[in-house]
Amino acid sequence: MIPVSVVTSVPDIGPRSVGRSEILRAVTIDTDIYVPPPDDEFPERIAAVIEALIRDGIAAGAEALRPIAYARRDIERRRSLPRSVLGTVFRRDSFTCRYCGGRLIPTPIMVLLSSVYPDEFPFHPNRKGGLTHPAILSRSPIVDHVIPGSRGGDWRSIENMVTACWPCNSRKGDLPLARLGWRRRPIADDGWDGLTGHYAMLFQVAGEPKAAYHRAWMTALQAVLP
Ligand SMILES: [Zn+2]
Repeated sequence: MIPVSVVTSVPDIGPRSVGRSEILRAVTIDTDIYVPPPDDEFPERIAAVIEALIRDGIAAGAEALRPIAYARRDIERRRSLPRSVLGTVFRRDSFTCRYCGGRLIPTPIMVLLSSVYPDEFPFHPNRKGGLTHPAILSRSPIVDHVIPGSRGGDWRSIENMVTACWPCNSRKGDLPLARLGWRRRPIADDGWDGLTGHYAMLFQVAGEPKAAYHRAWMTALQAVLP
């Protein structure tokens, strides 16, 4: 983030559509922009449960727990979606998280970059912390089912799928959007292509490693094959 002291006058920040007042507010009020907290009520609810349990016993605690009670469910171990479906959903959503609006880059493109710079941009197949570049953890897209199959959503319908970043997907879990107070962002229209426009050239420059894997992904992402 830009320290306040660096900003000595109203900066030229380009067209007004950028959101001049928002930027100025962010710069003048604080040096950093805070990550918004999760907007569930879990801490307050759980405090109420513990207080009721201590004060009035098991039944009172259970009563306080009812609004956030979570019934165990079997989440079907499902086969992963075909690459072609993933590619279609990512492309439809302009490679942007439909929950937080973050720009995303398909994992195979970052894996390819990692093959060129294994020390500076490491990748571990199990995404082990310490062995995987943070961009791969925060900027890889996945397909999220808006209404999870465990809650009656259609696993196969593209209409029930959105592009999401890993952090949003992990915050969402298998909860419905209404429970989280979330809604889907409209599809971004800023021309972001997830760097798929560079995929084919990067593949060549990298020496065409794992050719079958990358060619399959290039086809799915409709990247131009060399
Ligand atoms: Zn996100």
